[in-house]
Amino acid sequence: MDEFAGGVRRVTTPLPMRPGHVHSYLLPGDDGWTLVDTGIGAPDARERWAAELAELDGPVTAILVTHFHPDHVGAAADLAELTGAPVYQDELDLQQCRLVWGSDDWPERLTDWFQRHGVPGDVTDELIGQGTYYRPFIRYQDTAAPIRPGDDLRGWTVVAAPGHADGQLCLLRDGVLVAADHLLDPITPTVGLWPESRPDPLGDYLTALQQTIELAPTRAFPGHGELIENPVARAHALIAHHAERLDVTEAALGEQPQSGYAVSFPLSGADLKPGARRFAVAETLSHLERLVLEGRARRHEDSGSVSYTAAQ
Ligand SMILES: [Zn+2]
Repeated sequence: MDEFAGGVRRVTTPLPMRPGHVHSYLLPGDDGWTLVDTGIGAPDARERWAAELAELDGPVTAILVTHFHPDHVGAAADLAELTGAPVYQDELDLQQCRLVWGSDDWPERLTDWFQRHGVPGDVTDELIGQGTYYRPFIRYQDTAAPIRPGDDLRGWTVVAAPGHADGQLCLLRDGVLVAADHLLDPITPTVGLWPESRPDPLGDYLTALQQTIELAPTRAFPGHGELIENPVARAHALIAHHAERLDVTEAALGEQPQSGYAVSFPLSGADLKPGARRFAVAETLSHLERLVLEGRARRHEDSGSVSYTAAQ
């Protein structure tokens, strides 16, 4: 457990997938600690957390899940049991959590959706197996209480930061932003379009980054990587990064309709394994949809497939 100025503590959980670790944070308060994110629900998660909690000088009295991705929500039910504290989660995020981790047909729906976007069978086949592979590592709290932007959580203000996930939440107090996966450095948070997600995740993300600039936090605690000493500069850099990626995406379009899968090659390169390719397609689609909304691209849908052309 690492400790920072202001008494914020950080617990790092190793991950079996990239980027290899995830951070949870413990925020001090008058009536106990607030835990932000729970790590992945690995088989030893409960023992690891019991050892970490034993180091604290008081109880955990609230748990915030910032978004439903496996490395953040995975051990939520374990921690609720260990601490007896309520779990809070954005309402849409909890719905998406149930959809992705709690419904048996999700892998098939995801496969169909990728196929609509031109992804070939050899890149989607393993999805069916993977859906069940991750399931044992996700123990979300089905009874999580809804929490909304603007709410107060033990002295911290809840801030919405949709983009990386539709229901991504952050906490802000005295210029300190607990950012989770809204701001990362040097990693760029993935912003993908997924089935059942909001229609314009990149537009949401760019708006959220602008809001971060206006809130002007002076430090940010990310879900992965080191403390961000200049969150405003990082938000500007991420906006510039996506502006450039939008230009590259636009330049890849022409008169011939292309699927999101096809456009993911000029955008993300040819040499990706199936898992990375699927993320690249989702990321490409978030950029294509933003371009459509800006009048810089056109979407075509026919006989169950989606394609894009240049605007002119
Ligand atoms: Zn995430």
